[in-house]
Amino acid sequence: MSADKVKTMLLIMDGLGDRGQETPLSAAKTPHLDALACKGAVGFMSSLGLGKLPGSDVSHLAILGYDPYTCYKGRGTFEALGAGMDLEPGDVAFRGNLCTVEETSEGLMVRDRRAGRDDYRMAELYAALDGMEIEDCVVKVQHTAEHRSALKISGPGLSHEIGNADPHAEDALVMKVEPKRPDDPASVKAARILDTFTKRSYEILSAHEANQDRVSQGKLPGNIVLCRGAGFYDPPEPFEQHHGITACCVAGGALYKGVARFLGMAVFDVPGATGTAATDLAAKAKMAIDKSDEFDLVFVHIKGTDAFGHDGKFAEKAAMIEKIDAEFLAVVKDHFDLIVATGDHSTPCSAMHHSADPVPLLLCHKDARHDEATRLTEAECAKGGLGLVHGIELMGVILDYMGKAEMFGE
Ligand code: ZN
Ligand code: ZN
Repeated sequence: MSADKVKTMLLIMDGLGDRGQETPLSAAKTPHLDALACKGAVGFMSSLGLGKLPGSDVSHLAILGYDPYTCYKGRGTFEALGAGMDLEPGDVAFRGNLCTVEETSEGLMVRDRRAGRDDYRMAELYAALDGMEIEDCVVKVQHTAEHRSALKISGPGLSHEIGNADPHAEDALVMKVEPKRPDDPASVKAARILDTFTKRSYEILSAHEANQDRVSQGKLPGNIVLCRGAGFYDPPEPFEQHHGITACCVAGGALYKGVARFLGMAVFDVPGATGTAATDLAAKAKMAIDKSDEFDLVFVHIKGTDAFGHDGKFAEKAAMIEKIDAEFLAVVKDHFDLIVATGDHSTPCSAMHHSADPVPLLLCHKDARHDEATRLTEAECAKGGLGLVHGIELMGVILDYMGKAEMFGE
């Protein structure tokens, strides 16, 4: 490690931005964030560009310096990698739920998308499907928590351009998996394999002893696995080669760990980091500090802010921001030479879903340009010196302050 190393942290508070005269950021008491804003410079970050509504997965690709329009091939790969599953190029991965379905004259009807949301003997049910061979493909299944799982199909000539089996609703029929590109043999084949898997999962699980036991105990049977969000594994150039620096990820949510693994970043499991509002932020702070000697960049993701935005819970979102300030930023703020903090997108409580509004952005470094802003809020960021930074440009801004940017021209 050289003496002039710039210890750097990129903090993403998911869904941080909001709308309205008063926002969770402006309502929250954030003395540590305020101190960073006074010392540093603020502005806005737009992960995909103005008016473009981003999912968390593509936002993170952009923020980490990868063009999502070329390297994003579905969410399932991130979920599977984040669950610790190993993928080979060409694999197609999914998220899956054990569901409760009932045979009706119209077909299989979903009665509970989570089969009661417990995990009693669900690991055994998933294990009964693991390794299923269909044509020249193999399906691997990994139970994650409660009714949830990650799955992958390995075999030649597959595509992720297929629909879901999961209708995303109850009292709705299990969907026939359709190719999104009926003229593409890979799309047709992948749809056929997943459709076969879905049907066989029902045959195997509805006869499984663990389900008879569940029913005898008054629980719902987990009698089918319904998949969604197919992703194709085609990893881009790893982060270290792409940017010339090493990086690690400190996150609780599987999606974010999966994005980091997809980009070849080191990923550490933090005990107590759950990807929910109850996450152990002190443990994350300790991990971020512990890893800052070994890695050039520590990427930290905190999920709770987004979840409260989706639920329309303004006070809880503000309280989550206060918790980040008190339990995380208070600990790390004097340890790093460069702190860049933002969200991946806005999740306004009034909208209860993601919006395309640019997100407040903070850059704190001893040589940051001074601006008039004294807090990291939507209104203060409008006075900020950073202006509007596009997601794909943010890593360049960070590398420049790290002294790692490559000059173009002479
Ligand atoms: Zn997000
Ligand atoms: Zn969200």
